[in-house]
Amino acid sequence: MKTIYLDNNATTRVAPEVAEAMRPFFGELYGNASSMHSFGGQVRHHVERAREQVAALLGADPSEIVFTSCGTESDNAALRGTVEAHAGRRHHVVTTRVEHPAVLSTCRYLASHGCRLTELPVDREGLLDLQMLEDLITDDTAIVSVMWANNETGVLFPIEEIARLCQRKGVAFHTDAVQAVGKIPVDLSRTPIDLLALSGHKLHAPKGVGVLYVRKGTRLAPFILGGHQEGGKRAGTENVPYIVALGVAADLAARHIREEVTSVRTLRDRLEAGILASCPDAHVNGRRDQRLPNTANIGFEFVEGESILMDLDALGVCASSGSACTSGSLEPSHVLRAMGVPFTAAHGSIRFSLSRYNTQDEIDFVVAHMPPIIHRLRDLSPFVPKAKA
Ligand SMILES: *Cc1c(COP(=O)(O)O)cnc(C)c1O
Repeated sequence: MKTIYLDNNATTRVAPEVAEAMRPFFGELYGNASSMHSFGGQVRHHVERAREQVAALLGADPSEIVFTSCGTESDNAALRGTVEAHAGRRHHVVTTRVEHPAVLSTCRYLASHGCRLTELPVDREGLLDLQMLEDLITDDTAIVSVMWANNETGVLFPIEEIARLCQRKGVAFHTDAVQAVGKIPVDLSRTPIDLLALSGHKLHAPKGVGVLYVRKGTRLAPFILGGHQEGGKRAGTENVPYIVALGVAADLAARHIREEVTSVRTLRDRLEAGILASCPDAHVNGRRDQRLPNTANIGFEFVEGESILMDLDALGVCASSGSACTSGSLEPSHVLRAMGVPFTAAHGSIRFSLSRYNTQDEIDFVVAHMPPIIHRLRDLSPFVPKAKA
């Protein structure tokens, strides 16, 4: 059975060009990028090339790119490093209720260690009230952290506007851009973002490599202490094959970005329209015209998301549940809960996330198979009101 992979917000296929570019660094090119000899220098050259490739994708200067082990590390380093750099003089951290756990858990950790934390609410469509954000920034605010694109719904926050607001207020601004980079254009030369996190495995590089962008002049205490690697901002011997991989993936992303916002969007819209037309009592979670081009989060009333996923899995289709009840807990996703999505829909929410490797045949296969799945599950559902059954 062929796999139809529609879970690209969880992780992506390593691009063949990326896998190929890594290979020499598992073989003959094993030098330490920080060594003085030319054997190491050769390897260093490839690390610096990757830094330029990532910088080019972001509209940044190569000196502003810090390689890390993952998106989670980048988020931790941005938040903890900024608070530490203020040496106790600023205690207030601002974020949103819909962040990825990499940000939310770190903010809550900081709150349990003396910081004051504000978690901004979102409305029914997953959007923020920027006036509320502006009003709650004080002289005590150390950092504002707002994700660029939500991993569950794809909803985009107006990051350029928020960055300018923080700049006006003189507050550091961090964005978790793990889902945005490679899917929509990001240009840091025009946007006063101080810190930005991205992750390799969300843009066709392997798992276990990320970047923290640190704008020149931003105050940041290092998160991992040790040697002088990465300009003293992140110690540890450079993970050369993975850094090279991320460089090539960034290069590919820059060249494919038009495809993301055109053909990937077309496939996503085809999937969404097909399902909404054929499955009654289904609707899109999140503001439809402010979303990533690859993500569709659809709530099916009166069914369990997990049951839909199991039926899709039996057909070789990989999607994901909007709810985080992987361990059998019946808690719906914190993102859908923050949006006030009713229980009956939050439990039956499915996230489909596409990539440039998907085809129209795959989408049409899923559209054709959804109605019987939903119909069968509703027949079995204890949630369906009598009138609907
Ligand atoms: C996947 C993801 C992360 C974590 O990145 P890792 O490299 O897996 O640690 C952080 N934030 C968002 C929005 C993500 O989707």
